[in-house]
Amino acid sequence: MTGSTSVIEISEKAIIDNIGFLQKQFGENVLISSVVKANAYGHGMQSFVPIAEKAGIDHFSVFSACEARELAKIKRPGTRIMIMGWMDDHDLTWAINNRVEFFGFDTERLKKILSITETARNPAMIHIEMETGMNRTGMTFPYLKKAAEIILKYRSSFILKGLCTHLAGAESIANHVRIQKQISRFQRLCKWFKERDLVPGYRHVASSAAAMTYPGARFDMVRMGILQYGYWPSKETFIHYIGKKKVKQDPLNRVISWKSRIMTLKKVKRGEFISYGTMFLAQEDKKIAVIPVGYSHGYNRSLSNQGRILINGQRVGVIGLVNMNMLIADVTKLQSVKTGDEVVLIGSQGDLTISVASFSEFSDQLNYELLTRLPGKIPRMVVN
Ligand SMILES: *Cc1c(COP(=O)(O)O)cnc(C)c1O
Repeated sequence: MTGSTSVIEISEKAIIDNIGFLQKQFGENVLISSVVKANAYGHGMQSFVPIAEKAGIDHFSVFSACEARELAKIKRPGTRIMIMGWMDDHDLTWAINNRVEFFGFDTERLKKILSITETARNPAMIHIEMETGMNRTGMTFPYLKKAAEIILKYRSSFILKGLCTHLAGAESIANHVRIQKQISRFQRLCKWFKERDLVPGYRHVASSAAAMTYPGARFDMVRMGILQYGYWPSKETFIHYIGKKKVKQDPLNRVISWKSRIMTLKKVKRGEFISYGTMFLAQEDKKIAVIPVGYSHGYNRSLSNQGRILINGQRVGVIGLVNMNMLIADVTKLQSVKTGDEVVLIGSQGDLTISVASFSEFSDQLNYELLTRLPGKIPRMVVN
């Protein structure tokens, strides 16, 4: 290990297989934009991006200009970047000069572009984001009209890379009517643009859930996040997929394992409380292992007295409070356990696995949240 108290292992094979599965699923006519915001969903942009490129990805999406700048340093020269969210004025100039694509979700940003492109090297590579019913970012029709006017009037300032929108929860059937409405509104708006001779490079709507559940929402490009990392956006999305298959096997592979080591061991007498306070009372003589991972490392406090980890190929319980830098495991039943033994917080050891999903059920966090909260300072190590 690297002096760090834990490491996150990234499986190269799992990433390549997941992306291969998605490419096959969507076919050649749909571009996969690999979403690597939030440090590639906690996997580490630096580890993930070169592997995704090896698998054939040449378009990546991030949320902010700051993520785009990080990505620009590690990507291949021909690989494209799209910023879906935040940029300040300075970033906007940088993006335009470096042919970084970005969303235009209000006319203010379009006006800023006009002042920048007067002196910039290139036109702005813009994806016009349309409001279709999520009511978050995206222009409503009156603003889309203004945007179209601006683009038509200043054609040399813009390359219309995309028309896009975001769906308000395609992972749940409860949102079906709302999603269908959004898709038809999107189609009507694309038609309206086309009638004005504004034809985008790509129309894109779908994230992971919609791309799997609503094939009609794939259009020319999908913005692929969570599936690439081996997780389903929801149980419903998985069941919808698997329901139509003969072989009921999950086609995705988890990419992440999170591992640490036993820092120290000790015996505690029956009747004693263990760790802070009175949360855990030893009802028998106990052997405990201290693991140097706590809530400051992303191991949620709500896993106090609840979490499960793997040591010596066996599942053992977290006892007492999860501390800032440490947690304690009950290893009373393990015979040959010793200091330095491997501890699996997420991933497999022997025949057993701790999945992010089971982790999330105990701690009430979504896959998405747990992954993206894994601190950037824990080293990522690519394994085969
Ligand atoms: C995060 C994000 C995605 C990817 O979502 P997944 O559910 O992880 O596939 C797609 N589009 C936008 C606008 C996003 O913010």
